[in-house]
Amino acid sequence: MPVLVYAENAEGKFKKSTFEAISYARAIANQNNTTLTAISIGNADAAELAGLGKYGAEKVLNVSNDKLKNFVNQAYAAVVAEAAKKEGAEIVVLSNSFSGRGLAPRIGVKLEAGVADGAVSLPDQSNGKFIIKRLAFSGKAYALVELTSTNKVISLSPNSYKVVETGSTAVVEDFNPEVKASDLTTIIKEIVRSTDKVSLPDADIVVSGGRGLKGPENWGMIEELAGLLGAALACSKPVSDSGWRPHSEHVGQTGIAVSPNLYIAIGISGAIQHLAGVSSSKVIVVINKDADAPFFKVADYGIVGDAFDIVPKLIGAIKEYKA
Ligand code: FAD
Repeated sequence: MPVLVYAENAEGKFKKSTFEAISYARAIANQNNTTLTAISIGNADAAELAGLGKYGAEKVLNVSNDKLKNFVNQAYAAVVAEAAKKEGAEIVVLSNSFSGRGLAPRIGVKLEAGVADGAVSLPDQSNGKFIIKRLAFSGKAYALVELTSTNKVISLSPNSYKVVETGSTAVVEDFNPEVKASDLTTIIKEIVRSTDKVSLPDADIVVSGGRGLKGPENWGMIEELAGLLGAALACSKPVSDSGWRPHSEHVGQTGIAVSPNLYIAIGISGAIQHLAGVSSSKVIVVINKDADAPFFKVADYGIVGDAFDIVPKLIGAIKEYKA
């Protein structure tokens, strides 16, 4: 049962979450003593494609088609499902990214596959079963799901599997499946960037501010800290509801879900609705003047103190370190 992994790229460049998905798919292929093929859709160049071999793909199917220049759920799902059929792959792996969340169930339907989304560990295949541990209830719990169908689709939660480099180069093969007009129900005419700053869902580091910062006039130090760390900016819901920050920065259950390597929460209480969107971050640092703030319960590092005292000191220390 060969394994197929969808190698997502952003404007031709593969992301860390893609390398995680390939490394994870390689490990599943090894568990089953089989091969791993990656599929890339879009305009990645030859060196980028061959470089996916470093993470364990033996072959890369390269789909380059003007109709697929921008992400369209239905069409991309159809192409990945076609690739799985062509390769005879019974397991399809992808990252549980924004697009991965849309693709996984659609690919599942096309392949009549069981779907486990938000996987956080390798499948347990003992006793002939195939059991996946996945995030449940917006990241507040884990569920063990058994996939009993022959075909299986697994989306990997970002930051839950280490990138492993095996050091080889992949063979790149062009793949040109037919793209049906009925799958192109949405056509992206133009992409207009709202900001040149680091994109929040893909950010490695996120600096986030809450109502404890008192007002929009106090965001200067938050922006300075984020700038020094190369971080994206985020905020709690009341902050964006009050118009202090744009809604595009609102994280949580009703906002964007992030899982960076480092999440710094400043003046945020840590309500469950906020945690739902940030708790899968690898390291959480909380700055809050209330030692009983719920956020400290999930923090890896906590600083009890006034943000207006701590943040300038932090900025000073980082500047000193960088000098
Ligand atoms: P507060 O709860 O007011 O907390 C401010 C914190 O700042 C306090 O802990 C305080 O001790 C600290 N503080 C005050 N002054 C300072 C200082 N000088 N220095 C350091 N710390 C200080 N919220 C989200 O964020 N995202 C969501 O997606 C979301 N979805 C929701 C969906 C529903 C259906 C509902 C009902 C609520 C949702 N909420 C969401 C709101 C959520 O319940 C909380 O009200 C919200 O997260 C609180 O925001 P906050 O922590 O910024 O503000």
